[in-house]
Amino acid sequence: MTEVEPLLVCTTSSKGRGVFARRSWQVGDLVISARVTALAAERTTHSFQTSINTHCEFDEPARLVNHSCDPNLGIRDNEFGAFDFIALRAIADREELTWDYATSEYHSIAVPECHCGTAVCRRTIPGYKYLTRTQRSRLTHIAGYLADY
Ligand SMILES: [Zn+2]
Repeated sequence: MTEVEPLLVCTTSSKGRGVFARRSWQVGDLVISARVTALAAERTTHSFQTSINTHCEFDEPARLVNHSCDPNLGIRDNEFGAFDFIALRAIADREELTWDYATSEYHSIAVPECHCGTAVCRRTIPGYKYLTRTQRSRLTHIAGYLADY
């Protein structure tokens, strides 16, 4: 029996490496369950913020999933102190997996200029702190700690 790896890491045209689906998912499906590989002393362009004072490195493929302002994945805190990545809509085979970095980062330095190309692109992704009340109200999946901010 051959088990097909459901994710594929490859190089994108404009964003470096990215993670692509090798199967389809339905809304609400768990797509990636990340693990913490190290604590980061401070915020980096590849760290994940899991509390107002905690920045972590996650394992692959989670650490390679690119940002989109209209993503197909959302995050929720998981039992490993990292995030689970959940399908926000149906995801097709070969589709690039994306999530919104502002849903974990209170202040983000990872995407100075966004190239997600979606109709709702915010152009810059400075973090949750800078989202308007309306933008925040559209987010269904955010890091648990952000509920206090
Ligand atoms: Zn964008």
